[in-house]
Amino acid sequence: MGVLLEEVVTFPPPLEPVWGGFQKLSLLDYPAKVASVLFVRGCNFRCPFCYNTELVGGPPEKELPWKEILGYLKKRKEWLDGVVITGGEPTLYSGLPGYLRELKGMGLSVKLDTNGSNPDMLGELLREGLVDYVAMDVKAPLREEAYARAAGVKVRLEDVRRSLSLLLSSGVEYELRTTVVPTLLGEKDLLEIAEEIRGARRYYLQQFRRTSTHVDERFSQIHPYPREFLEEVARRISGCFGKCGVRG
Ligand code: SF4
Repeated sequence: MGVLLEEVVTFPPPLEPVWGGFQKLSLLDYPAKVASVLFVRGCNFRCPFCYNTELVGGPPEKELPWKEILGYLKKRKEWLDGVVITGGEPTLYSGLPGYLRELKGMGLSVKLDTNGSNPDMLGELLREGLVDYVAMDVKAPLREEAYARAAGVKVRLEDVRRSLSLLLSSGVEYELRTTVVPTLLGEKDLLEIAEEIRGARRYYLQQFRRTSTHVDERFSQIHPYPREFLEEVARRISGCFGKCGVRG
């Protein structure tokens, strides 16, 4: 299946994160923690299988005021362990560290979800101790064409490699993950990815979720692989990682 390849970033990313969604309570998004989930708008990737189409697009029609989000978190912080910052792609925003400082100042743990395209920002967050857990996508084998097909844009692979190396050498908790989308990834690709990130603490194969809204609407017609296929691959590559599993 062909995908549209755009150049990276289709709008000028503003300094301040634009909050496009707020889930007050989640027991699933931050391992072993009760967390709120904050979604930024805007992403520099256009993964054709992505179903967060509203968040991927550029500047908002509706923005959630940070003051309101903070007000809620302050009121509920006894019940919360942490906050998940996801999107969209949070590291696009150069003002992100200031927001994370506020959350950390309230005693909340911070989990960051990222596509790994901004190692400078990731490095800054790790150095300053502003993230407690990082979940990074590895979209495809680290080959230009394969990665561009999965990300929907040309990706600077040296940036993804730098992010991987920062995480693998950091003391912070992290996981790497790949959404296993038929037509984009097969068994050989997954084995290749596993070799490239061998030694990572945790690696998860995520089941592709078919919805009615995908960045490329043709992905609404694609059926996920059977779970047994993912489990078999996870079993074969489990020796490469501290922990390896299937999600979804
Ligand atoms: S799945 Fe891809 S397009 Fe969607 S938010 Fe993540 S990196 Fe961006």
